[in-house]
Amino acid sequence: MAFKNNINATLILMIIFFTSCKDHNEYRVGSEFSEYLHRFEKQAGDRGKTFNLEAEGLIIEFANLKNNTAGLTHYEDPIRVEIDKSYWDDISKFAGADLMKENLIFHELGHGLLNRRHLNNTLENGDWKSIMCGGENDENREWNINYRGERRAYYLDELFDESTPTPDFASTQLLVDTSGFKSSFMLNFNSPTMAEAGWDIKNNSNYSTSISNGRLKFESKSELIYLITAKISINTVNDFSYELTLEYPTSTDPASQYGLIFGTIPDSTSAPSVKESLEYFTINNNQKMNMGNRTWYSFFTELHKNQITTSGANTLKIIKLNGMLYYFINNIYSYRSEIEATDDGFHFGFWVPAKGTVYLENLIISTLATAKISSRTKKLQTVEFKITAATPFNNHSIPNK
Ligand SMILES: [Zn+2]
Repeated sequence: MAFKNNINATLILMIIFFTSCKDHNEYRVGSEFSEYLHRFEKQAGDRGKTFNLEAEGLIIEFANLKNNTAGLTHYEDPIRVEIDKSYWDDISKFAGADLMKENLIFHELGHGLLNRRHLNNTLENGDWKSIMCGGENDENREWNINYRGERRAYYLDELFDESTPTPDFASTQLLVDTSGFKSSFMLNFNSPTMAEAGWDIKNNSNYSTSISNGRLKFESKSELIYLITAKISINTVNDFSYELTLEYPTSTDPASQYGLIFGTIPDSTSAPSVKESLEYFTINNNQKMNMGNRTWYSFFTELHKNQITTSGANTLKIIKLNGMLYYFINNIYSYRSEIEATDDGFHFGFWVPAKGTVYLENLIISTLATAKISSRTKKLQTVEFKITAATPFNNHSIPNK
């Protein structure tokens, strides 16, 4: 009996030792994270939820996370959040880093402080329903979430209240009037001489261009993607409509993105403060649509759209109205999202996949009728093309969280 009592006493002593050794109220938040934690507390406070984390404890620290993971919450006492250092450093180099960091920290605090689990539902328009998306999803869909503008406001509400009503942007109906645009610039590529069509026919070691059955054929020989733009006199700070019909033959990689680009490329006439900012709207032959801005780490989100023709030409159209971009695929309204490029921009063009060939026809840029551009001006527009090989860095997937 004495022997057994001794063991019990030792166990009790050990338990006391270990429990007192651990500080359940430890508060240790890395300086890089405190701004986002304070924003979280502010958002919670605005919704009647208060935390006293400095007294109750919380740990947010850097780690080297495995398995393509950006953040990890441990349900310990206190809650401990790990953020992958290399992911944090990577996104820090790009525009949008602040929102992406907020998104990541808020997701982890959703687990740790709001006790939320993963929610991989989508809204009617295809957007993720919640910033609590993560873990595993049936479609193998990318975790990229368009956490900006009107969506950020909704995602914050949803984070603190899962019963938040469906937002307007989730509607598959076009809720604005996009009529009234008149074509101001056109290239149909079916002119027999390219001098008339405004396009150089070239064949060099990187790419070749030719006319094929009334369409422009652009064939890339490069491992990089190509961004081809025409500089015209229509400014992307104003409202516009831009459409182009593209075909990317299915014999090539169906996951490769191709589509529209537009926005700002500074030149000698630009103000020194003007930085390159190209928006893109791309699709692939797996019926995936991406949208984003080249200055960001990655595309905003990936959507599955049945209106994408997988074995033929697709007409992509973007309409900018009051700071919002409206995306159309084969004349079906498909998405809306705020424009990022806010400086003067006169470039409109297309995105060609690495080692890919695209066929193009009917490039039409329109402005609101009040712009009153005469047919004579249309023909006299001088076009300066820019062909740039670029790394598709913003094809990055967002790691799991
Ligand atoms: Zn998670």
